[in-house]
Amino acid sequence: MKQVFGSCLCNRVTFTCENDFSHFHLCHCTQCQKATGSVYAANLFTDVDNIVWLTGEAIIKRFNVPGRSISNAFCSECGSAVPYKSLSGKALVVPAGSLDSEPHIQPLSHIFYAERASWYDSITACKKFDSMPD
Ligand SMILES: [Zn+2]
Ligand SMILES: [Zn+2]
Repeated sequence: MKQVFGSCLCNRVTFTCENDFSHFHLCHCTQCQKATGSVYAANLFTDVDNIVWLTGEAIIKRFNVPGRSISNAFCSECGSAVPYKSLSGKALVVPAGSLDSEPHIQPLSHIFYAERASWYDSITACKKFDSMPD
């Protein structure tokens, strides 16, 4: 199985794992909107032991949302989302945007879709620019 590599924005946290993901969910829950500052968290799921931290594991911070099995793990230097063990301990959650290589699967599902941002449905109608428009 091929390996994928990942890193945070400041590159202090780097990791590698086997390109062996079981699920790829786009989570629209209100907590993921807060954590990402965007419409959803794009998370890959894999075996809980499928990670080797190359650098920076000690500077990762984690917040567990009270009353809900949702966590936010991030680089304490740059705030980027990084992989974490699910609260149940059954899966490793890997933010898709943290990867520097292509995962072998495509997104499979929108989850907590009922909580989606009111403006999510208009995204597909947005004009597209290859850089910041004038
Ligand atoms: Zn960082
Ligand atoms: Zn969520």
